[in-house]
Amino acid sequence: MAAKAAKKGGKRESVGERLLAWYDVHARDLPWRVRPPKKQKGARDRGARADPYRVWLSEIMLQQTTVATVGPYFRDFVSRWPDVESLAAAPRDKVMEAWAGLGYYSRARNLHACAIRVADEHDGRFPDTEEGLKALPGIGPYTAAAIAAIAFDRKATVVDGNVERVVARLFAIETPLPDAKKEIRPAAETLTPDERPGDFAQAMMDLGATICSPKSPSCNRCPVSQGCLAFEKGIAETLPRRAPKKARPTRRGACFYLRNGKGEVLLRRRPDKGLLGGMLEVPTTEWTQAEIDEDVLLEAAPVTAKWARVPGLVEHTFTHFHLQLAIFVAEVGAREAKKAEGLWVPEEELDAQALPTVMKKAAAHAAPDAGPLFKGK
Ligand code: SF4
Repeated sequence: MAAKAAKKGGKRESVGERLLAWYDVHARDLPWRVRPPKKQKGARDRGARADPYRVWLSEIMLQQTTVATVGPYFRDFVSRWPDVESLAAAPRDKVMEAWAGLGYYSRARNLHACAIRVADEHDGRFPDTEEGLKALPGIGPYTAAAIAAIAFDRKATVVDGNVERVVARLFAIETPLPDAKKEIRPAAETLTPDERPGDFAQAMMDLGATICSPKSPSCNRCPVSQGCLAFEKGIAETLPRRAPKKARPTRRGACFYLRNGKGEVLLRRRPDKGLLGGMLEVPTTEWTQAEIDEDVLLEAAPVTAKWARVPGLVEHTFTHFHLQLAIFVAEVGAREAKKAEGLWVPEEELDAQALPTVMKKAAAHAAPDAGPLFKGK
């Protein structure tokens, strides 16, 4: 219905054209991006095409993560591993280490697996279609569309959170999310132009990130305000609507910070499958909704020792639950240390380990003076 209204006024094409003209001037400079043709200045810049490796890497990093957070990680990755072959040849531990702090660690495991597949089975070249891309580890429909459009200029419709908001507003889709997705995607497809679909996808993302912001869209500066149904109706700020969120449950558990008297601390590697899979941890219990009971928690300690509880709790919020961890510390002699499963790491080198954020918090709580990285975390 809304799509029809936008189409009826002959505004469908003009949205694409006006948005591309705006993008030619206002495109954000991002480390993984090639400037639009009109912004390309120097000889090296001119005629440059997006590098599929950089587009893929940035899109995987940007899943659930902001542009500001991704920037330094992206630069670090491309300076260590400038192409897909070098990433494929890197030890997985090194990749996980470089990823530590970005969260959603299955992305890092899939990133490495994908690099190996592209290097081994595709001669180091990413497939240039959505179907071919979706067959690779860690590349779902959204990421495949984004890479196909941005790196290969395929006519693919890319709908991320920013684009979802822009489309819901352009078409005044009042159905609450997530149900609205069924209306938003076909509406977005009607906007994707034949010419420069990659730039169009990035223009939509930029519009959502800089002008059509969630709380207070700057409609007076918007290149597509003429033809935006939410703007016409005066309901832009209220869209997209959202179904009320379910409350996050709280889970609880404990971490055991064990020293061996030689300045080393016990770490363990988590199983590949599941939350924080493949990452290092300060040995921890299962995380359940049961109240904290020290006696029960201590049954899961890695060795028998004089465990002392550190006052307070470590708190961390994951997408689906909130976590509270009790922290226990102990020191054991050489004989008992041998019984512990895991790896002993010098305490002053904890900073350099691929510890996820929640585990850094646990280590910092247990030993606030252990290393500069942990201070204030
Ligand atoms: S006019 Fe306003 S609500 Fe509509 S797309 Fe532009 S910024 Fe968003």
